[in-house]
Amino acid sequence: MPRVCVIGSANLDFTMALPRLPRAGETVSGGTVLVNRGGKGANQAVAARLLGAEVRIIGCVGQDGPGAQIREGLAQLGIGVDGLMTVPDAATGTALILVDADGHNQIGVAPGANHRLTVAMASAHEGSIAWAQVLLCQLETPLPVVHWALETAKRHGVTTILNPAPVQPLADDLLALTDFLTPNELEAEALSGVEASDVESASEAAGRLLARGAKRVVITLGGQGALACDGVATLHFPAFPVTAVDTTAAGDAFNGALAVGLAAGGSLEQAIPLAGAAAALSCATRGAQDSLPDRAAVERFLQSLRER
Ligand code: ADP
Repeated sequence: MPRVCVIGSANLDFTMALPRLPRAGETVSGGTVLVNRGGKGANQAVAARLLGAEVRIIGCVGQDGPGAQIREGLAQLGIGVDGLMTVPDAATGTALILVDADGHNQIGVAPGANHRLTVAMASAHEGSIAWAQVLLCQLETPLPVVHWALETAKRHGVTTILNPAPVQPLADDLLALTDFLTPNELEAEALSGVEASDVESASEAAGRLLARGAKRVVITLGGQGALACDGVATLHFPAFPVTAVDTTAAGDAFNGALAVGLAAGGSLEQAIPLAGAAAALSCATRGAQDSLPDRAAVERFLQSLRER
């Protein structure tokens, strides 16, 4: 079984579907609400687990009901939660997500316990990084911990994926520790200084990110699919056709699946279609973790496309 270690956030998500997104100071009524487990780290861990990988997660939750539920939910899926530490002095991370009728979203996050993870705490779980074939990180964890984790993975010969979300300025020496940097359009623009809104502009942004030190760049382009660039070749993978109702966890589905495909020894040409199919299916259902497909659903979907 492919082995993936995720270092990242675990949150409780409140997802509200509204007829349209409110402007500043405005109230929009007529919503319906779903409460889900979320957080990019936990989402990506679940995405990878549902596709058949052995997964361990390193992070922090609060000493509260949501924290205990998150731990138990992940453990029930068979995810290793020894590295998911409980901290007494902060609430479990919380996200408020608004989704409109077209699937566009607005998200507010209170990081809480996620931001209590220190290098010293994470170091106690270095064995889980060394155990993995792929380490998957995002930016909902303090940057010094992300830097330490990427460095530690490289020291152990583990492949690294950094999904730079939510985006913040990153030093070139951190980018140089990433085997795969996986920004979406806006993150690619923020990190490269170049707009990345279509295949052509994303190629240029990817080139800048390679020049900054990333070994390979995979830019996700929403309904336009994904672009992969390693400095030698640039490949565009179109999105799979689905009716998107909520793209909240699309990037998480994509990254979790990419990690599984790479941990299984697949090339980018094999891993990206798996990631694209998992992400497309996640767009077809509302919610974050609850919208992630399992291996059987992805295989049925790919088979149905072949039969068209
Ligand atoms: P994020 O959720 O991080 O903003 P994107 O919106 O770029 O990421 O989506 C990630 C991936 O999800 C895309 O590369 C694509 O494979 C898939 N995806 C997103 N939107 C759609 C869509 N409307 N139809 C099919 N696939 C989609």
